[in-house]
Amino acid sequence: MALHYRETDLFEKKNWYDLAACKNLPTDIFFPIGRTGPALRQIQRAKAICQECPVARECLNYAIRTNQESGVWGCTSEEERRHIRRSPRLSPLKDSRAV
Ligand code: SF4
Repeated sequence: MALHYRETDLFEKKNWYDLAACKNLPTDIFFPIGRTGPALRQIQRAKAICQECPVARECLNYAIRTNQESGVWGCTSEEERRHIRRSPRLSPLKDSRAV
């Protein structure tokens, strides 16, 4: 897994994460193990929380920019983020690198 944290990324995360719907929830909800059976239900549960989150867009931008390969971020699964990364048309990086 390639993680490319920069100091500015951490600062940006600190700002929007204060408003995150998951801020006080156990993080394991968003990091299911596997892709079948119970993991699929866990992914759906995490996405349901994300859908109510006021900073879902910022979260997705952060996940794409910092190559978060695991877990649910901004209403997306690992596979969905890989698809976004491969598609310049869908990537939030196309519009702006600012969160
Ligand atoms: S979009 Fe989901 S994972 Fe991201 S901060 Fe909001 S609740 Fe947490």
